[in-house]
Parts: sequence; C-alpha cells; structure tokens
Amino acid sequence: MPDRDVLIIGAGFSGLYQLHKLRQLGFDAQIVEAGPQVGGTWYWNRYPGARCDIESIGYSYSFDHELQQEWNWSERYAAQPEILAYLEHVADRLDLRKDITFDTRVQSLVFDDADDCWTATTGNGSTISARFVVAATGCLSKPLTPTFDGLDDFTGDVHWTWDWPAGGADLAGKRVAVIGTGSSGVQTITAIAPVVGSMTVFQRTPTYAVPAQNRRIDEELAELKTHYDDFRAESRLSVGGFPCGDELPPFFEDLDDVRIRSELEVRYGNGGLCFQQSFRDLLQNEEANARAAEYVRNRISEKVDDPAVAEKLTPRTYPIAAKRMCVDTGYYEVYNQDNVALIDVNEQPIRRITPRGILAGDTEHEFDVIILATGFDAMTGALEAIDISHGAQTLRDKWSDGPRTYLGLMSAGFPNLFTVTGPQSPSVLSNMVTSIETHVEWISAALEYLHEHGLTRIEPDVAAEDNWVNTTNDAADMTLLGQAPSWYMGANVPGKPRAALPFVGGVGVYQQILDGVAVTGYHGFELV
Ligand code: FAD
Repeated sequence: MPDRDVLIIGAGFSGLYQLHKLRQLGFDAQIVEAGPQVGGTWYWNRYPGARCDIESIGYSYSFDHELQQEWNWSERYAAQPEILAYLEHVADRLDLRKDITFDTRVQSLVFDDADDCWTATTGNGSTISARFVVAATGCLSKPLTPTFDGLDDFTGDVHWTWDWPAGGADLAGKRVAVIGTGSSGVQTITAIAPVVGSMTVFQRTPTYAVPAQNRRIDEELAELKTHYDDFRAESRLSVGGFPCGDELPPFFEDLDDVRIRSELEVRYGNGGLCFQQSFRDLLQNEEANARAAEYVRNRISEKVDDPAVAEKLTPRTYPIAAKRMCVDTGYYEVYNQDNVALIDVNEQPIRRITPRGILAGDTEHEFDVIILATGFDAMTGALEAIDISHGAQTLRDKWSDGPRTYLGLMSAGFPNLFTVTGPQSPSVLSNMVTSIETHVEWISAALEYLHEHGLTRIEPDVAAEDNWVNTTNDAADMTLLGQAPSWYMGANVPGKPRAALPFVGGVGVYQQILDGVAVTGYHGFELV
C-alpha cells in the first residue's frame, strides 16, 4: 500500500487549496515543498515593488466564504508581503502546515504499474509513495538563470528578483544595474528608482505597460462584500478569470472610430490588464491590435521627456498582449531622472560581467549592484525539472517537441499524475487563482469519483490528448500570440520548442469543457 493517497508537490496557492480540498473529502494527503515556508511565488519573489497585477479582490481564494468576508485587502494590487501574509493566514486557519514537509525538493517520480502508485524521491534521499500525485509546482517557479560570462568575478552584490535577500538589499546611493524589463524588472526599476544613486537598465525587448491606478480600496471592498459571490461566479465564466466590465465591447470591426478611441481611453484610464480586452478580438484581429498598440505607444511618448529614450522604450516589433503586458506605477517616468540610463542590448550586447561591472558593446559600465530580472522557464520548467518516468518513458522525452496534455490536466502514459494550471490550460493567460480553483476542484471531484467507484487509476486516451493538443495549437494559430518572442511560446528559453503553452480559448469556455468531460463520466480518460 502506498504511504499516502495523494502527494501534492508545492505549497503555493495551488498546493494549499488542494490539500484542504482533499482533506475535506477524507483523503490522506501530504505536501512536499522545496522552500522553507508556504506561499510559493509570493514567498520567493520578495523584490522591491513586487505586487500582483490582477486586482486583489479577484486574485484570492473564493472557496471559503468567511475568509473572503473577513480578509481586508488594503490596495487594489496587493504588495508581496500582504499576499504572503494572506497565504500564511490561510495555512493557519485551515491548519495545513502539519501535513507539509518543507525544505524538501521532489527530484524524481516513478510510476509502478503493479500497485498503481508513484514513488517520489526527494533531494535528501527520502521516498514517499502515493497513489496519486498533484504537481502544484507552479507556472513561473523555475527561474531562468542565464550564465553571463564573468558573473562570479563581479566584486559587488548580485541579486535575482526571484530569490531576493530575506532581509532586503541595501541599494541606497548605490550604482545599480538591472537586467530585464518584464514584469519583475518593471516593478523593481520603479520601486528602487527613488533610492539608488544611479541606475542603468539593460533592455532586450521593450514592454507594453499600462497604468495600474493602484489605490486603497477600503470602501470598494466593503461594497463588493455585499455581493462577492456574484463577482466570483462572473469571474469563473469570464475570458480572463476576472470580470472586465459589464460586457465586452463587440468585435473591433463593428465599432466606429469614436467608440474605438473612447474604449481605449476608458480602459487605459481605469488601469490594469482589462485594457487588453478593449475589443473582443484584440488578440485575433491585426487592425484591432494595431490600434490598441498605437494608443499605448503614444502614451509612452507623452511620459518620457527624451524622444530617443522614449523610442527605445516603445515596443514596435510585436503585437500588444501577445507577450505578457505589464501594469506599472510610474515606470516610464523613471527614465526622466537624470541618474537613470537605458541600454538596448540589441545595440550594445552584454559581452561579459567584469569584476567592476558590465561590458556592453565596447563600454564597461561600473556598478555596485547587479539585479537580474531574467524571467522563468514558464509552465513546463518546474515539471521537467523532476525526473518523471513510467517504464521506459519519461515526461521530458515525451514533451521534447512541446507539451502534450489532455486539458492541461494530465499527460497520456503518466497515470494518476495531475498538473494544476498545467500547459494547455488557460493558466498564465488568466487570473491564476480562478484557474487554480477550477483545477483543484476538478481534480478533487475526479478523485472522489474514482474512490466511489472502487477505481485506482486514471489516464487520458492518446486520441483525446491528440485532439486537445490540436485544439490548443489551432486556437493559438488563430491569434497573434505566435508573433511575439514571449515566454507564452517558450521563446525566452534557448532551445525550448516553440509551442503555445497556455490554452487561449478563455476561462469560461474552458470551464464548460471541463464540466462537460466530468458529467459524461470523464470522457477521454481511461478509468480502471
Ligand atoms: P507557485 O506559487 O509557483 O508555487 C509552486 C511551489 O512549488 C513553489 O513554492 C516551489 O518551491 C514548489 N516546487 C516546485 N517544484 C518543486 C519540487 N520539485 N519539489 C518541491 N517543491 C517544488 N498570477 C496572476 O494571476 N496574477 C498576478 O498578479 C501574478 N503576479 C505574479 C508575480 C510574480 C513575480 C510571479 C513570479 C508570478 C505571478 N503570477 C501572477 C503567477 C503566479 O505564479 C500564480 O498566480 C500563483 O501564485 C501560482 O501558484 P502555484 O501554487 O500554482 O505555484
């Protein structure tokens, strides 16, 4: 008999809820977590300015009515310490820690057909067997750590945004370099600009950032709590897992010029990622996309005093929203400071790190601190970091040309192994907490169904999986996603196959597909 009914890997938003849900259903479940405490993303990413870019009222659990009524988010976009405090509170409230083993990384998973169970081996050599495994390992949890020549020779401090020193870093008056201008870079740059002595930003791809319009939300939250459940229900059926207005405007081509302009202005003024839903077909229709992109480009040029710097910061080579957009709080204005410089590494490539700084092009720039905001091996990275095998087949080999899953939940040939917000589910294109709840609840219901029917094994049919892979690829091909060098497509990782990692069909549509599969007795899965 296996040690546990279910082994859950990871103690972030996904793992915590999964443990609670399975306990409620009477399963014996355990979490193994590589870090020293709960929180996942919100434990690791402690860099200055780290905060969510989906509004806190939606970027939080809906499953516990009292928790949702009692918890008070202070700001529209909560900062990292507040989100971490929330997850710690949830762990305490639900008494989750007693079933979590911290500081332990799962290194391999081997499936045994005789017992229908997985054996996990951890970094300290211990083993745990479980009938089912839920990989709640995170979509953005495997950092990309590019090996810049000479990094070890640098005599100043080096900080990675994904592993910021717990006690903070002293940047006051220092000469600071920041490499990377994705979300973490944009947030860090904005937050440290007031304290650094000088800052040089090394940019590869300029980002489209829209204002956060962050603010305290005491009154808004009190009002929302009078009908929070309605808001949550709407989130589950929305495109992005968060309602973006009463109704999405019609397709771009149905709108006249005045309406187009006003839609963009209103959404930009409201702030946040709902801007990318200005038109229902913004990610499909090139003209619609071009109008929204041009709107943001014009706003950038208004904010940056030096036209040459503004031009460098302006994205021109890829469609808006085809790469993760950023939500900013004065990012562009940072470049108006006399002590801030911007280097486009396409013009002046980083040749090496020197003991004193960075050699870019022919110039050595001297720094006291280098901050690396170089992103993640998204969606597949944390899963492929584990040696997952069933007989002669490994998951890494199976996915060598890109991930293959059924519904982003399981992969054929790897029975009893579920992924929360796995590749080919909406995941990173959505409010992740909505998508996490959807998956946790679906997985839990499937396990309950197996238990009630005396079954011990579930695995997707190859044909169902092939169909889903084709569906996700075809859906992505109908969008502009492939035109950006983004981590949505695996383009940020050298050698990673280019494939659309998330399902682009939207949270509401996806939820209906999952519901349909469950009510038909798990159509497309083989249950034994
Ligand atoms: P994670 O929080 O990543 O947790 C996974 C855990 O698994 C980690 O603690 C990790 O240590 C552990 N783990 C991984 N592999 C192993 C292993 N082999 N053995 C043991 N433990 C393992 N999403 C949004 O929707 N909105 C946002 O505003 C937003 N902001 C973000 C900001 C940042 C800086 C980052 C990095 C991500 C952000 N995300 C956002 C995405 C975010 O990752 C998810 O919203 C959510 O936190 C994911 O929760 P999770 O539990 O699935 O994964």
